[in-house]
Amino acid sequence: MTTSLFFLMWGLATALALPLLVPFHAREIGGVKAFTAANALAVLSLLAYASSAVVPPGVYVIVSNAAWVCSLSLVYIGVRQFFCMPAHVLRTAGLGALCTLAFALMLYGEDNLGGRMLLFSAYTCAGALAIGRLIFRQRGRLQTRGVMLYLMVAIFGLAALHALRVAVYTVGGQAPASMLDPSPWGLFFIVCGAVTVPALFLALLLLVQTSLSEQMQAALTFDSLTRAYSRRSILDELERELRRCKRIGGRLAVLVLDIDHFKSINDRHGHAGGDTALRHYAQVIQRAVRASDRFGRLGGEEFVLLMYDCDPARALVQAQRVCDALRDAPLHLQGAEVPMTTSGGLALYQAGDTADGILARADAALYRAKQQGRDRVEMAWTGRAAARPQLDGASALRQGEESTA
Ligand code: GH3
Ligand code: MG
Ligand code: MG
Repeated sequence: MTTSLFFLMWGLATALALPLLVPFHAREIGGVKAFTAANALAVLSLLAYASSAVVPPGVYVIVSNAAWVCSLSLVYIGVRQFFCMPAHVLRTAGLGALCTLAFALMLYGEDNLGGRMLLFSAYTCAGALAIGRLIFRQRGRLQTRGVMLYLMVAIFGLAALHALRVAVYTVGGQAPASMLDPSPWGLFFIVCGAVTVPALFLALLLLVQTSLSEQMQAALTFDSLTRAYSRRSILDELERELRRCKRIGGRLAVLVLDIDHFKSINDRHGHAGGDTALRHYAQVIQRAVRASDRFGRLGGEEFVLLMYDCDPARALVQAQRVCDALRDAPLHLQGAEVPMTTSGGLALYQAGDTADGILARADAALYRAKQQGRDRVEMAWTGRAAARPQLDGASALRQGEESTA
């Protein structure tokens, strides 16, 4: 009876992650449905043991073992789906079915408790090692530190526990005993299992949650069309950099860029062609700048490049290199060569600058570059330009141009 209560507690602890996994189904994240089903089956497996006082052994033992085998197989399939790998469903299901058949033969044929125990632990150990190996190989896929480590500790902990169980009941010379009438070793395995199995499902939940929040963070940080930094993140970065310049007197150059006659690309090649041109533009510029510089899209066909620790001469050379790189890398659209050029306005950090102030000076310089024939960079005059209005995208530039005209 007391052991049944242990299994009930273990089952309830394992169920903790279940209601938290279900809401992720709507997000279409690979593997989540498999994780949820695996969690439910693990709970069923433990509750089957907890019900041993009211259910015949021929039923609860096979239900428990089969549910656990399916649960582990589903975790394996789910992890593969989560990392966008082929799921290997047939192979994994076949192995699980064979294992369940062996349990049935050792239960309904000549009852072989030792054989079932060893098969159960060997299967769990091998399955957990296979899952742990997958996760280890994909450990770089999450940025958030600690999540993969937690998951690996849980899964390798489960593998180690079952490896120990096999060792104890083979080379250790312990006689196999039912989990419901446990020896001190049996109790030890129950207690450790009650930690590692719930930890495994909580770790899978954490994996899903963290991956989703990293995807959302990336969507905020990067522009979805060009993969340049988004307006919000590049302006945040500019604010941060200005604070740093103010604090330690660093140098910063801000280059506002605008594609020349972009509207005509849209008119000639359609909006999709224009989008291709924007992606091409971002790729060319990113290849032309230093890895340490930050390139972001302010909106429409207006971009900004933040160049750190750059003296004026170097910043100007770098800005001109950007124009040259684009001129030298024409786009090919629908079999036709589409020459692209860009104009830029370059402003350097002055003491007391705000983000609006430095961007307004760069905008004013950009306006001059456009007026002087485009495909060039103009340096901003020192002093104060009209404040840049807080508007989004291309309209911000237009407004900036009007205010500096
Ligand atoms: P200028 O040389 O003076 O900068 O001329 P322009 O044609 O580049 O500038 P204008 O402001 O007249 O046109 C910008 C166009 O960019 C208008 C707008 O429809 C287009 N545009 C803005 N965002 C996008 C986008 O995400 N995709 C596409 N395809 N076009 C966009
Ligand atoms: Mg333009
Ligand atoms: Mg524009």
